[in-house]
Amino acid sequence: MEGKLIIFSAPSGAGKTTIVRHLLEKFSDKIEFSISASTREPRGEEIDGKDYYFISKEEFLHKIAKQEFIEFEEVYSGTYYGTLKAEVERIWSKGKHVIFDIDVVGGLRLKSKFPEQSLSIFVQPPSFEVLKERLRGRGTDSEDKLSERFAKAEHELSFADRFDVILKNHDLQTACADADRLLLDFIK
Ligand code: 5GP
Repeated sequence: MEGKLIIFSAPSGAGKTTIVRHLLEKFSDKIEFSISASTREPRGEEIDGKDYYFISKEEFLHKIAKQEFIEFEEVYSGTYYGTLKAEVERIWSKGKHVIFDIDVVGGLRLKSKFPEQSLSIFVQPPSFEVLKERLRGRGTDSEDKLSERFAKAEHELSFADRFDVILKNHDLQTACADADRLLLDFIK
């Protein structure tokens, strides 16, 4: 069967990963996370095959050549991220819908490939300042990486109104409750 796609996009630091994790816990019988392939190094507790399929740049380029991706992007210079066709099929074959945590450009690209089957949601942080604080607070990136992330985040904030829905994340509990409703409405 072909299921649906629920796409969460936002600048990194807006809280989309937390909201997506909340949904995955609450609706584990209905949705499953699309594990992207990435060429970056695992951070902290991240696990290969759970958070990402961490692969080499060589392997990534090989998969591009073999047209194994639905979409892919060089999200940061030299670092690739992409959604594998096989990943979406794996989840649909279980009778579940697919949920994505993906950058803004990738999110819009997925939406345009599956216009009817997908719901695109933009998670909006309270402000750019708050976003910067959150990214800094992670303490996992060097200053160089941080300024690249800041620049990208600021640019991405301007894409909000191209999404089906803007989900404000000023307060996490409210945002999660709003996300519950959006999801249930869309898959019913
Ligand atoms: P991070 O390195 O913080 O895990 O992710 C960096 C950015 O890449 C985030 O905005 C994340 O959502 C995005 N991302 C993760 N997987 C994919 C993917 O498969 N395709 C695209 N286009 N972006 C992705």
